[in-house]
Amino acid sequence: MNSNDAILEGPSLLIVDDDKELCQVIADIFREKGYVVQVAHDGKEAEDKLQERSYRVALIDIKLPDMEGTELLRRLKEMHPETDAIMITGYATLESSIEAMREGAFAYVLKPLAMDEVIATVERALEKQHLAMEVRKALTREREDKEYYRLLSITDGLTGVYNRHHFEELLAREIALAKRYRYDLSLLMIDLDHFKEYNDTYGHLAGDGALRQIARTLKGMCREVDIIARYGGEEFAILMPFTRKGDAAIVGERLRGAAAQAQPQPWLTVSIGVAAYPGDAQDGGQLIAGADQALYEAKRVRNRVCFLEKGG
Ligand code: GH3
Ligand code: MG
Ligand code: MG
Repeated sequence: MNSNDAILEGPSLLIVDDDKELCQVIADIFREKGYVVQVAHDGKEAEDKLQERSYRVALIDIKLPDMEGTELLRRLKEMHPETDAIMITGYATLESSIEAMREGAFAYVLKPLAMDEVIATVERALEKQHLAMEVRKALTREREDKEYYRLLSITDGLTGVYNRHHFEELLAREIALAKRYRYDLSLLMIDLDHFKEYNDTYGHLAGDGALRQIARTLKGMCREVDIIARYGGEEFAILMPFTRKGDAAIVGERLRGAAAQAQPQPWLTVSIGVAAYPGDAQDGGQLIAGADQALYEAKRVRNRVCFLEKGG
């Protein structure tokens, strides 16, 4: 739609005809109706006006002194494809006007002009533009809604990281990719220490805040390709593609340190278990079980990172 049509400005109309009196009559009628009207008496003048701005509708005489109306139509459509052109024609030039329709004109009106018909034709063009815009808006809204609900369905509401269901889908996909392209994949299982006590001491809302804080810390320290999820109540999982277990344990150690620092209470720390594909596991279930087993080890002391001893 015409970006020059400010809300307060009426719809815009360009009239191109060498008959000055006719132009004046049409211009008066449409100005009266609140349109912004410009007039040009030949093709060149019309082109100059079209350089300056676009119009919702252009009324174009099929025979202009310096060029064919169809030629001006072509140039108009190049410059402003959204403008609707209505050709003004006599019976003698009807053939050209039908040709103009093929070239993208919206309609033609026959001379001598019946003004009611001219008005109705211009209004029909505006109505069509309005409908097209409504359809575009509805489509955009539908796309946005779909995207919103898709994000909602894969995200954990409290922390904004992926939820467990989506994590498990991604895990299966990542294992398949790692198998196919033969790369290492590490999994960190992260569990907050003494979290029940934290809740009991400071209240559930403070507990929620701590979970959000931890998620932020994890996101801030991981790479774009790493997949972070809230796996359970106070448990997070991070899947790291292209990462060997030794390197994942180093990252885990950094996360543990950062989590301990970021927490509002020094005793609210995390324990982390690390397992890796292909050394420890052949599928997602085994990988999770491996990381859980390592986490269980870490929980013996807490505020600690442990990894399975078996695979590399
Ligand atoms: P450990 O050190 O052995 O991990 O002990 P813990 O207290 O962290 O573990 P436990 O499994 O006994 O308790 C987990 C607590 O996490 C209990 C539960 O109320 C709390 N929790 C789970 N989800 C949420 C949540 O969304 N918000 C809050 N505030 N607390 C949660
Ligand atoms: Mg815990
Ligand atoms: Mg737990």
